[in-house]
Order: sequence, then C-alpha cells, then structure tokens
Amino acid sequence: MARVYNFSAGPSCLPEEVLKECAAEMMEYGTTGQSVMEMSHRSSAYEPIIQDAEAMIRKLMNVPENYKVLFVQGGGSTQFAMVAQNLGIKNKKAAYIETGVWAKKAAAEAKHLGVAVDVIASSKDKNYSYIPKVEKVEGDYDYVYICFNNTIMGTHYEYIPETGNIPLVADMSSCILSEEIDVSKFGLIFAGAQKNLAPAGVTLVIVREDLIPEPENCLPGTPTMSMYKTHADNDSMYNTPPCYTIYVLGKVLHWIEKKGGAKGINKLNVEKAKYLYDYLDSSDFYHATTEVGSRSLMNVPFLTKYSTNDGSEAALAKEKEINSKFVKEAEAAGLVNLKGHRLVGGMRASIYNAMTLDGVKALVEFMKKFAAEN
Ligand SMILES: *Cc1c(COP(=O)(O)O)cnc(C)c1O
Repeated sequence: MARVYNFSAGPSCLPEEVLKECAAEMMEYGTTGQSVMEMSHRSSAYEPIIQDAEAMIRKLMNVPENYKVLFVQGGGSTQFAMVAQNLGIKNKKAAYIETGVWAKKAAAEAKHLGVAVDVIASSKDKNYSYIPKVEKVEGDYDYVYICFNNTIMGTHYEYIPETGNIPLVADMSSCILSEEIDVSKFGLIFAGAQKNLAPAGVTLVIVREDLIPEPENCLPGTPTMSMYKTHADNDSMYNTPPCYTIYVLGKVLHWIEKKGGAKGINKLNVEKAKYLYDYLDSSDFYHATTEVGSRSLMNVPFLTKYSTNDGSEAALAKEKEINSKFVKEAEAAGLVNLKGHRLVGGMRASIYNAMTLDGVKALVEFMKKFAAEN
C-alpha cells in the first residue's frame, strides 16, 4: 500500500486511524451483521451513532445549551440560501464582508432570494489577500455574514467582528474544529464536512435557538427541507440523513478528542502552518500570497519567482510551465493535489487537521529540491 500526502482543498485527507477503523467495521458493525452503509437510520444500532456525533460536536466545540446542532445535506452552498431564507426575514437586509469567492457566492444567493445585501467591507482591492478590519457593525441588518476561512484565497479572520445584537453568521467550512472558537459570539455557524470533518455529504449547522423561525416566518417559498426548524424538531432525522458520512464524522471527532480537542489540534495546526510559512518567507524562490495577520492555518497558496506579474506573454508561459512542472514532479514524489486555484495561480497546499507534520516536512523538502533545480 502506498498512501500519498494529499494536499487537496476538499474533499481532503482523513486520519489514517479513522480509515482503518472504518475498514475493520466495513462488513460488520459491532454484532449487527451489517455495514453501517446498509442500516436503517431509524434502527437501534444507528441512532446512537448520530447521537454520539452530535454529543461530540457539543463537547469539542463547547456548544452552549441554547444552540441546536444540525446535520443537513446540500453542502455549504445550500447554506448560502438557507441562511437568507431563515434569517433574512425581518428587514430583508443583511451585511456581508466580501473576502473572496465563497463570501461573494453567499451574498449573490441572498440577493437572488430578495434579501438586500450591503457589502460593508471588501478586500477586493488586493485580490482578497487579507481580511478587512471591521471593528463594529451597526444598522438594521437581519444578520452579518462572514466567511471565516477563505479556502481559495488562503485567508482567515484573526478577530471576530463586534455586531452587538445583530446575529453573526460564519461559514467555517474549511476551518471547523481546527481551533478553539467561542460559539456564543455567533448566531449561526455552518460547515460542509468534506474539508476538515468527514467525507462529503453532511453539513454541520450550529444555530442559536431563538434564530430558528417558524415555517410561516421564513422567506415565502422556502421548501420544508430548507427550514432549520424542520431539522431542529426532528433531531436531524426528518428524512434519511447521510448515515455513513455521519458515522465517519463521529470517528473523526473522537480522533480530534484524542489529539487534545480543539486546543490540542490547533497547537498541531499552528506548528504545521508555521513550518510552511517560515520556509515560504525565507525563500527567494517562493512566496506566500497572503498578508501576515490574515493567514489561514489550513490553506496555503504560494507562487514562485516566475510569477512576475509583468504581463508579458513570455513571462506567463514560463510561469505556467514552472507551475505545471512543480505539480507533476510533486505528484511523482507522492505529494498530490498541489495545483493552485485559477484565481490565485501558482500552488496551494491545504493542510487540514488530518495532514501530518511529516507531510508538511516532506512538502518543504520537495520544495527546496525543486527550487535548487529550477
Ligand atoms: C468548499 C467550501 C464551500 C462550498 O461547499 P460545498 O459543500 O461544495 O457546497 C463553501 N464555503 C467554503 C469556505 C468552502 O471552503
């Protein structure tokens, strides 16, 4: 067996311990004589699995009593709509901080549903390479929306905007449980699981109970499945949940607990990210694309010295050639999915919870060798 170091932005690598446990239980879970994949979600064998996953989220994130923990489907992208449909209902007006693709998509979806969007800050002026500082938000907004970790741009909030009584909504798809978070500072947090928590298929929603509207108060036309109340009233079992994904999620959560919970895993993440950024900052060949003070611990985009930005065709061709050479040779060395997003160019290493320090060290060793040869 030859496992690679997988730097994919998502779906992404899972802890090997978890994969092994899943493999061992594939044919028969406990004494049930069945795989978890084959079970009724209403069975006495399955119910403890989903209940444990919820209990572990509550424990690891220290979720206050007055918050619901929901498992829904449709990915982070469906939350762009559900947030507007369930929260954008009083003044039909919301504030968005624009920090890249995912925040923009969320704002566009709210607009599409008839919610007036105020972009109260943006880092567009520098190609989203930093997080704007928004000290305080005031106004008749139904909510304030932020994307806490920008997977494509590689930025992350190092502060939480002060929004007073206005609920703060955060997309934490690519940083969930990578650090300690004070849930009580947020009205709603959501995260697609496939970056840091589980295989694709489940989306975690943590929402303050008083923000869950009655069906008649949602935006007109909101489908039953898109009402938070539907899932809250039915313990995320209104319809068939993504059973197997939730089972893997539970295992990942226990793995995080063994690593010392959010605090312990954050310490490892800081160590990994520092190792990579320190190398990028000291190198003449590579540079990080993000500003110090806004850097993601999870997604690290970087360019080479051939990314000159001088616009000439020859320079662009050389840059393209070097980037694809890097990605190809890295892959041959067992380091995969390092191609950068087209909006940033260059390379991107996603180093989520499950990426090991050994993986990051192997990447840096490869980068040194590549720099010396090119
Ligand atoms: C991946 C991602 C999304 C989209 O998630 P889907 O589950 O593919 O809809 C949204 N927001 C952020 C920050 C992401 O990284």
